[in-house]
Amino acid sequence: MSIADRLLRIKQSLPQQVTLVAVSKTKPETDLMEAYEAGQRVFGENKAQEMTAKWSSMPKDIQWHMIGHLQSNKVKYIAPYVALIHGVDRSELLDEIEKQGAKNNRIISCLLQVHIAEESTKFGWNPQELVSWATQEQLEKYPHVRIQGLMGMATFTSDEHQIKQEFASLKSVFDQLKAIHAHWDTLSMGMSQDYALAISMGSNMVRIGSSIFGERN
Ligand SMILES: *Cc1c(COP(=O)(O)O)cnc(C)c1O
Repeated sequence: MSIADRLLRIKQSLPQQVTLVAVSKTKPETDLMEAYEAGQRVFGENKAQEMTAKWSSMPKDIQWHMIGHLQSNKVKYIAPYVALIHGVDRSELLDEIEKQGAKNNRIISCLLQVHIAEESTKFGWNPQELVSWATQEQLEKYPHVRIQGLMGMATFTSDEHQIKQEFASLKSVFDQLKAIHAHWDTLSMGMSQDYALAISMGSNMVRIGSSIFGERN
């Protein structure tokens, strides 16, 4: 099946309120263009340099999402154009996004990353710490940042019950914080292997790579 066929098949399976981020990291621009020609406009990358190179040569109506772990010293490269930063996992990173947002005269949309997985290798806030940290007063310290919701990654496991519990805990943190931040509208959870489950647990943004573009090397 072609990239366009796989993309369209996935899109058709998604409920209308769910945004598809086509995760194109490591893939050549010709592959991205195939998805673009099939109507895709939201792409996810995990390296600032690679995303910036693609942004500069590809059509300007693409929305670029940074989905990977972002080093503070890389924020300046993506600040002029990035549409959404998913992996904001520490307050120092928000400080830098605020600074670069101000410099570029932009308000940069972000999601806070919550650590829901068992593995210690995945980044993100501890759920309880985030709930006590993310007060209205705290987030007002970043006028050039618009927090829109949360992002999380489940443990890499075939144990569906565990994945489900992890998604449920993220949804619960989201609901607690949305009670304070009424404008939050985005819960980014779900990848190629688990997006259907994520949607059933309340996700409205899925990040799908290999099921569209094929396996990465
Ligand atoms: C690579 C990546 C994805 C996509 O993974 P697939 O399994 O290829 O769909 C989603 N989210 C993040 C944060 C990623 O790094």
